[in-house]
Amino acid sequence: MRVYKVVRCPKCGFLQLTAASRSVRCFGCGVSWALEPDSILFSSADLEKAREFLLRLKRGGSMGFKRASEAD
Ligand SMILES: [Zn+2]
Repeated sequence: MRVYKVVRCPKCGFLQLTAASRSVRCFGCGVSWALEPDSILFSSADLEKAREFLLRLKRGGSMGFKRASEAD
């Protein structure tokens, strides 16, 4: 079964969706990095759910994310 994951590049912080299980190629900086549990923010067999989570993250609405520019 294919599992979709929302992952964050350890190098540049770029967020993306992947179905890979071992290594991911970052669309942001182009580096290939090994998937580790730490870098997986969300995983689901449901692509729509994974996509929704990613969109929410990118909008900055999720917990655990710095919202540096909003305070001032
Ligand atoms: Zn990157």
